[in-house]
Amino acid sequence: EAGLRRQLIDIHEAATQYFEAQLKSPEAARAREYLTGRGVTAETIAKFRIGYAPDDFNDMRDRLKPHFGEEVMRASGLFSSKEQADGTQGQLYARFRKRITFPIANEQGKTIAFTARALDSDEKSGPKYMNSPETGLYTKGQVLFNLDKAKADMRSHDFALLVEGQMDCISVYMAGIHNVLATSGTAFTEMQVRLLSRFTKKIIVNFDPDTAGANAAEKSIALLTEEDFEVKVVTLEGGLDPDRFVREHGVQAYMAALRTAKRHSDYLIDRARQLFPARTADAKVKALNFLLPHIRRMPNRIHRDEFAADAAQK
Ligand code: ATP
Ligand code: MN
Ligand code: MN
Ligand code: MN
Repeated sequence: EAGLRRQLIDIHEAATQYFEAQLKSPEAARAREYLTGRGVTAETIAKFRIGYAPDDFNDMRDRLKPHFGEEVMRASGLFSSKEQADGTQGQLYARFRKRITFPIANEQGKTIAFTARALDSDEKSGPKYMNSPETGLYTKGQVLFNLDKAKADMRSHDFALLVEGQMDCISVYMAGIHNVLATSGTAFTEMQVRLLSRFTKKIIVNFDPDTAGANAAEKSIALLTEEDFEVKVVTLEGGLDPDRFVREHGVQAYMAALRTAKRHSDYLIDRARQLFPARTADAKVKALNFLLPHIRRMPNRIHRDEFAADAAQK
């Protein structure tokens, strides 16, 4: 078991280096243009070990094959294969193709999985982001993107900034805010909350200013407040996600926006008023029904009473 784990770490390091090298190859000209167009510098590429998975089914397998056994290659999740007519698995081929690759690291900074963004948005290119499947190394709900780089600053500043996407996280980090983590678009899990509580119990949530982001924020608030985290929420103006906001308005404007973060109770009360704006009894009941589960969840009696009083008043 320990042997397989070691080899899975090794093959992920080899894959990281392979993708990094591919991004420098002539074939990756478009990928480099894409990154440049998004403001991703050479420094960022090096820091986050961003790479490129070429539009090729076989190359990566052929390059790794001399160094890793079949079992490790299959267990790595870096390859796919098709089931044959006789029920056996066919040849391995590269899972990620024609995509920008972002290593997902464990707490120690070792690559344990990848997320990969399509260069194009046509149907043939598949989903915008594609992740490694769960493997012996990687359990989706137990990982936070950028934890390895964020942990020192999370402790020293005693708070963490939580964003949705890898690109949000990378842009904010490169702008100098290092205590930033990404959930990678999935709902926050209990395991992630527990992981986080080892570093800080104060969080600023800054998800995308759209319905998906608002829903994800509500779920995350629920999990975090249940574990007695102090949660604040930022909503960015202009419909921009943190990546675009930082690039369009600069880090000073972003930090100013962070200073406007609302306590989660105020955020939720405002949200309830936005969802149920009518001044009718019916709307008030709906607003309270929206808020009550959040109020009940607060483990601290004083905070709970205060939240309930605010909700009733507003
Ligand atoms: P980009 O700026 O590259 O377009 P984004 O981070 O703004 O990406 P969103 O659509 O806001 O993308 O999604 C947030 C996060 O959700 C992504 O960073 C990614 O981790 C995840 N995600 C988005 N689309 C998919 C998908 N089709 N499959 C799996 N995960 C996805
Ligand atoms: Mn989004
Ligand atoms: Mn986004
Ligand atoms: Mn984005």
